[in-house]
Amino acid sequence: MGTEFRESVHRAVNNANLTGALGKFSEAYKVNRAKAYEGIDFEELRGRIAELKSYAASHLDLLSDLFEQNATARGATVFRTNDPAKVREYILKVAQANGVKTVVKSKSMATEEIHLNPYLEKAGIAVGETDLGEWIIQLAGQTPSHMVMPAIHMTKEQVSDLFSKEVNERLTSDIPRLVKVARDKLRPRFLEADMGISGGNIAVAETGSIVLMTNEGNARLVTSLPRIHIALVGIEKLITNYADIAPILKALPRSATAQLLTSYVSIITGPTPNTDGSMKDLHIILMDNRRSEMAADPKFKQALQCIRCASCLNVCPVFRLVGGHVFGKVYTGGIGTILTAWFDELKKSEDIQGLCIQCGACKDVCPGRIDIPELIMEIRRRLVQEQGLPFLQKAIYSVVNNRRLFHGMLRAASIAGKPFTSGKFVRHLPMFLADLTDGRSLPAIASEPFRDRFKRIKQPECTEKAAFYAGCLIDFAYPEMGEALVRILNRAGIQVIFPEEQTCCGAPARYNGAYEVAAGNAVDNIKALLAEEVTHVVSACPTCTVALDHEFIGTFESLGQTEWIPKARELAAKTIDFSTLAKKLVDEGRLTLKEGRQLGRITYHDSCHLKRTLKVSEQPRELLLKAGYELAEMFECDMCCGMGGSYSLKLPEISGPILQRKLKNIKETGAPLVAMDCPGCVMQIRGGFDQDGAAVTVRHTAELLAEQLED
Ligand code: SF4
Ligand code: SF4
Repeated sequence: MGTEFRESVHRAVNNANLTGALGKFSEAYKVNRAKAYEGIDFEELRGRIAELKSYAASHLDLLSDLFEQNATARGATVFRTNDPAKVREYILKVAQANGVKTVVKSKSMATEEIHLNPYLEKAGIAVGETDLGEWIIQLAGQTPSHMVMPAIHMTKEQVSDLFSKEVNERLTSDIPRLVKVARDKLRPRFLEADMGISGGNIAVAETGSIVLMTNEGNARLVTSLPRIHIALVGIEKLITNYADIAPILKALPRSATAQLLTSYVSIITGPTPNTDGSMKDLHIILMDNRRSEMAADPKFKQALQCIRCASCLNVCPVFRLVGGHVFGKVYTGGIGTILTAWFDELKKSEDIQGLCIQCGACKDVCPGRIDIPELIMEIRRRLVQEQGLPFLQKAIYSVVNNRRLFHGMLRAASIAGKPFTSGKFVRHLPMFLADLTDGRSLPAIASEPFRDRFKRIKQPECTEKAAFYAGCLIDFAYPEMGEALVRILNRAGIQVIFPEEQTCCGAPARYNGAYEVAAGNAVDNIKALLAEEVTHVVSACPTCTVALDHEFIGTFESLGQTEWIPKARELAAKTIDFSTLAKKLVDEGRLTLKEGRQLGRITYHDSCHLKRTLKVSEQPRELLLKAGYELAEMFECDMCCGMGGSYSLKLPEISGPILQRKLKNIKETGAPLVAMDCPGCVMQIRGGFDQDGAAVTVRHTAELLAEQLED
């Protein structure tokens, strides 16, 4: 991660205006979005959008031809190009041929993508943004920080300073007054402008129509008052039929700003008359700029299903801390990382891809059903493939890929870490490691790992057997969680086996793009876990469960290593997370918890992988309620805790504030106890409370249930 980039992250997280505005907005957004979608089957709706956009992405040439034919037949001039430079040249040529001196623009990410404004201004053409947010950032000499709300990072005081300079009068930060100033300044521009430039939310091949959705009405003025209108549209905006507008129209405002509909929806089909009766000169530019290449890429084609609603930014725990500017000059957030890698170049995504903590919140809300975190992982893989791994990571992974050496080093670390250990925590580390314990204590490495303790556990002989996959954290930091799981399964008549050859699940390597290393881990684990006939392979770590259940297969597929895929599928079919298995055993009457106990208030933190990838959230809650706890839900219970594996070590300046927000939400429930199903989250949250000093106990669900087993 470059120093300059790191500094920009540091500046962003320390910008109280930015984090305050984004934090408030994202909290309100979730509630409002849920209300806006009330009574709508979101899964069905996004299924339709994904289907129609995926079809369009598979037929970009055909739909571009159709659009051109139909728009031309209605009197528009259509220009098609792959090259952003040719788009700029075309617009300048039209402007110069018509003696254009001033241009008004409505909001368009495509014009940002090709850096149109400075190009036209250099050629002596005055360009005026007319969307309020865009105008604010134009006055400030900045670029948009959000796809839908470009000036969200600015306070009303900063805006009043800008406007004061513009009107040469000291203005207060009274918002209605500022809006009036903007209106007074912008209105004459529409009338004076020789050319209007817009983008397009949708381009309909069947009719050659452009659909524009706005809230300020400025796009209507931009497209109707000047005598020339140029619409710049990326070809991913193409859809086949007029009827396909409906699902996008339903989802876009709800997802973007939690509105049922934008204030204005304009559908432009061919030129309209000017006030003098002549016809408007309408040009529509269909810009490719690597979108066709993206459509031909089996992994990245789905990114063309994006309808640019920005809901992925609004729910992203990282975006709400750092805002858009750290992502570069155009596209921001998770989807912005992907678009930058394609529309700019892969190398430009090198730093920004590291911002993603892989929480999956964006994937859950995306109306285009795009697996944004998976595509970011693919960017990481391609970067590693192109550039190789940094020296230190290479050295670490060569150890991780050698189980004996890796486990030997963990045992040695248990001894070496003793001088820094106090009870169960490492609270201070020396010199350059000091940041690692800033705001969060680390767990001490267990003096005896689970794999050694397991040998002493006396288990009943049972016909049913389950293999336990412990993962590194339970094995070497929290063996008591593994012991609790064994007690529970034994009580249900299941004997637990612990295959000794199991090793790291490969998630740390995979999340850093080192797929070859992750594949090596996958092979070792498949061999170990399928060596003996068992009913289930159970894990009490959702990250490991996801690796066993999904990611081994995905890793082999990405690398084209088909040989191990059948075995990976066999393992996936047997894999189950702890809470789902425990709930099943309770439902089948094989596991009984003590009845009628009143254990007091508890709150529950949903781990990202458990809730979003494995879709497990009710099972642990039902088990805790059955055990006798009274559940007090916390605000944003499924918001990431900032752990993200090695993320918390690599980007503590982001992980830290995310953790602090989680601790605050937990404390506000008043519950003295918080449960979770992930040892990684336990490490993060327990370590946070150790330094925070609040009297909140952090436990794994398995530990709490093991204490409530019927005698
Ligand atoms: S990726 Fe999905 S959520 Fe993000 S802007 Fe595109 S459609 Fe919206
Ligand atoms: S996975 Fe999480 S951190 Fe990554 S882009 Fe999506 S919401 Fe943001």
